[in-house]
Amino acid sequence: MAAHDTCVPAGKPSTVRYTRRPMSQTIGATEPAPPQLRERVFSGIQPSGASHLGNYLGAQVNYVALQDQYEAIYGIVDYHALTTVHDGAELRSLTHDMVLDLLAVGLDPDRCALIRQSDFPEHAELAWIFNTVTPVSWAERTPTYKEKKVQGVENSLGLLDYPILQAADIVIYKASRVPVGKDQAAHLELSREVVRAFNRRYAPIFPEPEPVFTEAPTVLGIDGQTKMSKSANNTIPIFAEPDEIRRLVMSMVTDPLRIKRTDPGRPEICNVCQLHRFFGSDYLEIQDGERTARTGCVDTKQLLAERIIEFFRPMREKRAKLAADPAVVEDTLAAGAVKVRPILDATMREVRAAVGVGRA
Ligand code: ADP
Repeated sequence: MAAHDTCVPAGKPSTVRYTRRPMSQTIGATEPAPPQLRERVFSGIQPSGASHLGNYLGAQVNYVALQDQYEAIYGIVDYHALTTVHDGAELRSLTHDMVLDLLAVGLDPDRCALIRQSDFPEHAELAWIFNTVTPVSWAERTPTYKEKKVQGVENSLGLLDYPILQAADIVIYKASRVPVGKDQAAHLELSREVVRAFNRRYAPIFPEPEPVFTEAPTVLGIDGQTKMSKSANNTIPIFAEPDEIRRLVMSMVTDPLRIKRTDPGRPEICNVCQLHRFFGSDYLEIQDGERTARTGCVDTKQLLAERIIEFFRPMREKRAKLAADPAVVEDTLAAGAVKVRPILDATMREVRAAVGVGRA
């Protein structure tokens, strides 16, 4: 995949204007689940900071691509973000920004449902029920839990429970496919285990979700060592100002053994060279230039910075236009909520009946 070949759908802005609020009590009280015509995908993204190259190449590219093949639901998972964002006003603003990011990269509210997790406390209700079928040891062995603790993220019960809420997010919609980066593979494995444990104890209500990866399942950060991640503070935000993108790309770590300009490089271990493959069809030539020392790291970085800036320019412009419309975010979320409410209500009716909670 070259990102520019597959991932720049014009994504016309939604003309849908729903007035019904997401939590309307009149929707779905007794409605049956709507017929499912296509396989369903769900993925969630935390509103914990600006979208970065890892989010885009590892997940958002597929969010956009899968809108047409599947019934697609994407969630801004603000309950999850509470594990790292501890200021209410900031969380609201980050949630707002993430909706704009996702619309700008090409999510089309006419072709998918974009929702805010906290509009549906049922996600947390199902996570609680899942907690009761999940041994603590399953959550404790999750690699991202261990990594985040090392990064200094507060070791709260929420952090430990993070993947269980994620399992609930996905299967409350009975989604079978989940576009995510490779860092989420272990979470998806745990989701399948949780689902099996629930289905075994109560009734076969849930499908076992499978991940869908892009051709960039793990994008490394500017340190060239670890996964690009908001919590690791090593990102290249895709909507940053061009000068900021230039500054960050120029600070990227390349092949540590290429000390002098005349030393041959090793493009296979150089993050800059590897990223070029998503921003131009001449990446083999670029890699050859590094390998033979025909080009220097500075040249290769400058070119990458300019290509990233150009690639995201139309999306940045679209985002700026969207941001000027004060209604677009809440309208998008309201439209998404109307689509998903009957699906989620039907699932929760089945779940409550099976486990014996709520009115009979
Ligand atoms: P972050 O790790 O920056 O906090 P999220 O946890 O919100 O990002 O992840 C949102 C989506 O982006 C997930 O599907 C995740 O797998 C994907 N993703 C995040 N970082 C990367 C990366 N460096 N490479 C590939 N995919 C990534």
